[in-house]
Amino acid sequence: MGIIKLIIIVLFVWMGFWLLKKFRKPIDRIKQKSSSNIMLACSVCKIHIPRNEAIIQNNKAYCSKEHLE
Ligand SMILES: [Zn+2]
Repeated sequence: MGIIKLIIIVLFVWMGFWLLKKFRKPIDRIKQKSSSNIMLACSVCKIHIPRNEAIIQNNKAYCSKEHLE
């Protein structure tokens, strides 16, 4: 009886993790999409670049390392 209970508990825990993984993935995708849609203007050349590609320093965005210096 004890072993069967243990197996059931393990199965439930595993199911819980599996469900968490399944439901987390779409949320992460939405987050990534929304963050990449945010455009920042380079402080030097005023070109607009996605936030995930921009170099941010002192609350200012730069399109490349050359403009950072
Ligand atoms: Zn620039």
